[in-house]
Amino acid sequence: MIKVCKFGGTSMADGTTLARIGKIVEADPARKFLVVSAPGKRYSGDSKVTDLLIELHRELEGGGHVGEIYEKIARRFLSMGEELGLKGEVEALLEETKEDILREKKYDFTLSRGEYLAGKVAARYLGISFVDAREVIRFGENGRVDAERTYALLRNALQGLERAVIAGFYGEDAAGNVKIFSRGGSDVTGAIVARAVHADLYENWTDVSGFLACDPRIVPSPARIRSLSYKELRELSYMGANVLHSESIFPVREADIPIRILNTFRPEDEGTLILPAPDASGALRPVTGIAGKKNFTVIFLEKSLMNAEIGFAYRVLDVLFRHGISFEHMPSGIDTMSFVIDSEELSGGTLEEVEREIEEAVHPDKISVFSDVALIAVVGHGMSRTVGTAARLFSAIANTGVNVRMIDQGSSELNIIVGVDNMHYERTVRAVYEEFFKK
Ligand code: ADP
Ligand code: ASP
Ligand code: MG
Repeated sequence: MIKVCKFGGTSMADGTTLARIGKIVEADPARKFLVVSAPGKRYSGDSKVTDLLIELHRELEGGGHVGEIYEKIARRFLSMGEELGLKGEVEALLEETKEDILREKKYDFTLSRGEYLAGKVAARYLGISFVDAREVIRFGENGRVDAERTYALLRNALQGLERAVIAGFYGEDAAGNVKIFSRGGSDVTGAIVARAVHADLYENWTDVSGFLACDPRIVPSPARIRSLSYKELRELSYMGANVLHSESIFPVREADIPIRILNTFRPEDEGTLILPAPDASGALRPVTGIAGKKNFTVIFLEKSLMNAEIGFAYRVLDVLFRHGISFEHMPSGIDTMSFVIDSEELSGGTLEEVEREIEEAVHPDKISVFSDVALIAVVGHGMSRTVGTAARLFSAIANTGVNVRMIDQGSSELNIIVGVDNMHYERTVRAVYEEFFKK
């Protein structure tokens, strides 16, 4: 039995939390390979080490010195070292790392040092081997992980090791430089390691007792989801439930490895089990979970007989393609079509250019733009089997006095996505949660 355990930023926050990790790992001999994040927040208002490293990079880029910000980062690791009786070693490590950052002066390299240092300290404290992700996680020319190469390197490095700590969040690109994943990417490293070693379980240790039915920062203490399918996880995490990085699913899916979300601060809690298919035992609720994100723009087009005009969508998509814009959703009717796009992709005058080019390309009768739209995804395999779910959803939203700007029902019948004004986002999430989880 092999378990790969990923410990997130709050689990790595200081010496006390690292001691907790030690207990969790000791409690189960199957917990052989640990992936760690950089230290996160210790209390609300604290900084994550990765955010401090971003500041440090900006400072260096602007011609500044490592000074004060590096000191702040160093103090985090030093106090950890002091708590764990590793002061001297941590001091030496920090000195070396400072030199490395100054020599490389690259964004990805600087940001990766949080996980590197965290991994080194954790391995030393636990008395087990450290594996530098640079040696085992490889990105290809296309910027994506070279899976075959990475799995082979990982198997080779981990073979014969009783236990090991692998630094999360980064690897090495085709040119030999350090490259990081997107934010929250240690979850992806954990999934890759689990796949490489054919783990029986990927344990993801964080600061909540599982995947919750909605964001706990919006609804206090939401219901815990006992089990979730890979598809539901993908929908919810992509749509903003950032408890697990949305790309973590791909490596484990290839080998049907289950994931369990667990709480480092309440290790006895059952957490959430994520399985290849919906769990057949137990009653299937219509809605498994709710997630959402703010700041989208909806471009709405209307034209009589659009349905008969061959190439209409093609010409609009070509405009987006030429601007390198990806869209999230494309709900359409007989004579209408909308494009839902992350507002950031349209910033700096791009929206105006895109609007003008769409006008020229397809001459719509009407083109309207709604900015500041939030998307809310209501996800669950049970939805297609339960009559009246959509009616309940829309009446709950109407009863709270919110106007729906857009609706998209995924063709998988696994989700319904509604767009509302950004300012109504939290209120809508609360109303939908009340409807499906409190009645
Ligand atoms: P880690 O540092 O362990 O990777 P993250 O901060 O990335 O932790 O993810 C855990 C956080 O995700 C929780 O503290 C919680 O605030 C947030 N979160 C958002 N949506 C959900 C959800 N549906 N279920 C659980 N947590 C959620
Ligand atoms: N430390 C990185 C971040 O803050 C990666 C991670 O925590 O997974 O995004
Ligand atoms: Mg995370």
